[in-house]
Amino acid sequence: MKVDLKGQTAIITGGSRGIGYGIAVALAENGATCIITGRNEERLKQAEKALQVLEPSCRGMHLQVENLKNAETLAKAVYEKYGRIDILVNNAGMTSDQLLLRMQEEQWDRVIETNLKGVFNCTKAVARYMLKKRYGRIINISSVIAFMGNPGQANYAASKAGIIGFTKAVARELARKQITVNAVAPGYIQTDMTEKMEQKAKDGILSLIPQGRLGRVEDVAQAVLFLASEAASYITGHVLNVSGGLYI
Ligand code: NDP
Repeated sequence: MKVDLKGQTAIITGGSRGIGYGIAVALAENGATCIITGRNEERLKQAEKALQVLEPSCRGMHLQVENLKNAETLAKAVYEKYGRIDILVNNAGMTSDQLLLRMQEEQWDRVIETNLKGVFNCTKAVARYMLKKRYGRIINISSVIAFMGNPGQANYAASKAGIIGFTKAVARELARKQITVNAVAPGYIQTDMTEKMEQKAKDGILSLIPQGRLGRVEDVAQAVLFLASEAASYITGHVLNVSGGLYI
């Protein structure tokens, strides 16, 4: 898909690898200046260098999404440097799987803080600058697990379902200001996150996917690119499943 994002600035949290990096590539290929965030400095530097080949203005910046102050400082720095923030992709996320009765309080808190509070923090930090320009595209990465549940992922499923409620509420709040807020719910995508699953579990999942394959990072990136484009200007509060039919 080809769209014109020249002159636009995008922040992609967790853009140093996996789905987030794939999204940054798709946006940068279409002309956007991408600010990717992550915690691991080495990975961030590598990703920044690779993105600059596509669009020299791309940058990597350190961000702990669970820290509101950190998110506000980053949003301010980006706005001051580039004069606008057009696109926010809330992609940073993690898992810490365990069956309910064995799940530690710390596992619950860490996943909710990163996956759900992180989306609140970054959206709150960036929305004020989008409001100034009366334009914005906010795209939150949820998961089909929000709809289907999964044993061992009560924390993750709750965080991803929370993102959907958040998306719909904020979409209503910002609709009059030409800011759209949507979510993408991927199925099983080949990244570090799914790499750590046991082969038996992966085979089990594969048998449940009507299209018969795991998703590629590009499958999610193209959905995000569409939602970030002019073509999607009348779509808000929507959840787009990208799961090869795993969730229908
Ligand atoms: P990866 O584990 O490959 O990458 C996660 C990214 O998020 C990294 O850039 C990581 O940064 C960053 N990150 C994690 N925790 C934090 C934090 N506390 N603060 C800032 N950055 C953080 O994940 P995926 O690419 O697989 O997943 C991306 C998103 O897509 C997640 O929200 C995930 O839940 C969702 N998703 C993934 C699916 C899949 O099958 N892979 C399916 C459905 C949804 P660093 O490198 O510095 O650690």
